[in-house]
Amino acid sequence: MPEKYLQDKIIIAEDDPITLLLLKSTLEKWGFTPTEVQNGKEALELLRGDDEPRIVLLDWLMPGMDGIDIVRELRLHNQKIPHYVIMLTSKNEKKDIIHALEAGADDFLSKPFDTDELKARIKVGLRLTGLHIQLKKAMQSANRLAEFIAHYDQTTGLPNRVLFTERLESLLKEKKCAALMLVNIDRFKLINQAKGLDLGDMLLNYFGARLNDCFDEAAVAARIAADEFGVLVPFDKDNTSECSTDDVVNFLYSKAQRIHTRMSERFPIDEGVSITVSVGAAPVSCDMGLEPEEFLRRADTALRKAKSLGGNQTVIYDKKMEEEVRQRYEIEKELAEGIEKDQLQLFLQAQVKQNGEFHGAEALIRWYHPVKGMISPGLFIPVAEEGGLILRIGRWVLEQVCRVLKAYPDEDFSISVNISPKQFARNDFVEEVVSIIEEMDVPAERIILEVTEGLLVDDIDKVASKMSSLSQLGFRFSIDDFGTGYSSLAYIKRLPITEIKIDRAFVRGLPDDENNAAIVKAIFLMAQALGLEVVAEGVETNEQAEFLERVGSNVIHQGFLFSKPAPALETLENWLKK
Ligand code: C2E
Ligand code: MG
Ligand code: MG
Repeated sequence: MPEKYLQDKIIIAEDDPITLLLLKSTLEKWGFTPTEVQNGKEALELLRGDDEPRIVLLDWLMPGMDGIDIVRELRLHNQKIPHYVIMLTSKNEKKDIIHALEAGADDFLSKPFDTDELKARIKVGLRLTGLHIQLKKAMQSANRLAEFIAHYDQTTGLPNRVLFTERLESLLKEKKCAALMLVNIDRFKLINQAKGLDLGDMLLNYFGARLNDCFDEAAVAARIAADEFGVLVPFDKDNTSECSTDDVVNFLYSKAQRIHTRMSERFPIDEGVSITVSVGAAPVSCDMGLEPEEFLRRADTALRKAKSLGGNQTVIYDKKMEEEVRQRYEIEKELAEGIEKDQLQLFLQAQVKQNGEFHGAEALIRWYHPVKGMISPGLFIPVAEEGGLILRIGRWVLEQVCRVLKAYPDEDFSISVNISPKQFARNDFVEEVVSIIEEMDVPAERIILEVTEGLLVDDIDKVASKMSSLSQLGFRFSIDDFGTGYSSLAYIKRLPITEIKIDRAFVRGLPDDENNAAIVKAIFLMAQALGLEVVAEGVETNEQAEFLERVGSNVIHQGFLFSKPAPALETLENWLKK
C-alpha cells in the first residue's frame, strides 16, 4: 500500500505490548516499517528531530505524558511539520473525540481497532503527508530553478552578470590576479535583423560554447548582456606588481587574440555566419583596491573605445580613456546648453560646376563656445550622435536651411543637409522632415539629404521605404564620403539615390597618387552607369580639379580651392552676385 518514500513514515507510540504487537504486524503486512516507542517523551523527541511529516498512532493513555499532552506540545512547538496524529483510545464518547481533536489530533481510532478502519484512516494520513512531501520537493526544485535563473543565462547556459561579478569578487578575496575581458559581437543587431531572432539566439549559443572552450577550467566565461560576454582568466602569477607592465599587456593581448582567432571561424548556422568581435580588456588585481564593478567599468570603457575605433580589435584599458570619456561628457553637457543659448551657427560651403558657376551648397554646422571658441563638428557631432542630441541638432539645421532657402525664393539652387544615421533611423524621420518643410513652406526639390554608407547596412527594406517616401515628395539623396564605407552596388541600385560625393581621402594626392586616381576613375564609371551626379569633396588644388574634370564629365567641385565654409548668408551673397 505505501509509496516507497512513505514506507517508514509511521510511528507507533503505545505502551500496551499486545496492541503494539498487533499494530506492528498489521502494518508490516501492508508493507510498512513502522518505528515504535513506548512512552510520550520518546515519541516527542523522535518527532521533533524529523523534517518530514509522519503518521503517528498515538495512544491516549501512557505513562509520563499522555497522548493529549504530547499532541498539544507537538502542535505548539513543531508547527512547521504537519505530522498526522491518529489518537488511539478506548474512550470513544463524542466529548472525548472532540477533546482529542481540539488538542490537535487529526483523527481518532477506537481500541480494540478494526483493521479496515485502521487501513482507511492510515490512507487519509498517507495522502496528506505524501502531499506535503511532494509539495516540499516541488518547492525545492522551484528554488533550484530560481537559483539557476538568477545566476545563469538561459540562452547559453553560461553564468550571468550576477554570478560573473561574484566570481570576480571571490578571485579578489583569494588575492589572485586576472585578465578581465568584455567581448562584444560586432554588428550583432544586423545579423539578428538579417537572419532572424532564432538564428541570432543560435549564434549566441555557439558563441558562448566557443568562448568557454577558449580557456581552461580556471577561467570563467559569462554572458553579461545581449551580445556582450565576459571572460575572467586568472593570471599565472599571484601579484601583478611582480610583473612588468609589458608582461600584463602581453598576457591580456594573448588571451584576447585567442578569442579573435576562435571567433573568426565560421559558425555552422544557416549557410555559415562569419563575425568579428571587439574586446575591452583590463587587468584585475587585489592590489588596486578596487571594487568588482570598477573593474567591469574599466573593461567596458576599453570595449567602447574598441567599438568606436571600428570594432574587430582589442583595446586595453588606460587611465587616459577616463579623460576622454570625461571630455565627451563635458562636451555633451555644454552642447545641450549651447543649443539653448543659440551658440550654433549655420555655415554653407559652395559647390561649383566645371564652368565655375554656382551649383548649390552644403550646410555645415559650427558651434561657437563662449570660452573655447569654435568647436569643429568633427569633434561634437560624434558626441551628439552617441548621446542623442543629434536629433535636436538635425532639426535645427533643417529649419535653418529652410529659412535660408526661403530668403531666395526665385533662385533654383539647392542645399545639401547632412543626416546622421541615428536621425535617419528614427521611425518618425519621414514625418519630421516633411513637417519641417511644410511648416517653413519650402519645396522639397530644393533639399538634398546627405546620408553615409554606414546607414545602408541597416535593414535595407526600411531604408528603401523611407527614402522612396521622401524622394516621391521631391527630396533627393546623396551618398556622403563615398568609398569609405560598405556600400555595394546592389544596394545603391535599389535606392532612389541621385548623387554621390567622392570622399576627400580619394581626392587627396590626385593626380599623382595612382591608387586614388584608379579609385576615382572607377567611381566615375560606376556613377555614369547608374546615372548619378558626382560631387568631389576636398578639392584644394588646380591639379586636382583638372584631373577630376578630365576623368569625369560634369563633376561638381566642393573644396577650399573654390570656397571655404562660411556663414550661410555670406556664402550665398558672394556666389549669387557673381
Ligand atoms: P562632411 O559632410 O563630409 O563635410 C565635408 C567636410 O569637409 C567639412 O568639414 C568641410 O569643411 C570639409 N572640407 C570641405 N572642403 C575641404 C577641403 O578642400 N579641404 C579640407 N581639408 N576639408 C574640406 P566640417 O565642416 O568640419 O564637417 C565635418 C563633418 O561633420 C561633416 O563631414 C559631417 O559629417 C559632419 N557635419 C557637419 N555639419 C553637420 C550637420 O549639420 N549634421 C550632421 N549630421 N553632420 C554634420
Ligand atoms: Mg556632408
Ligand atoms: Mg563628406
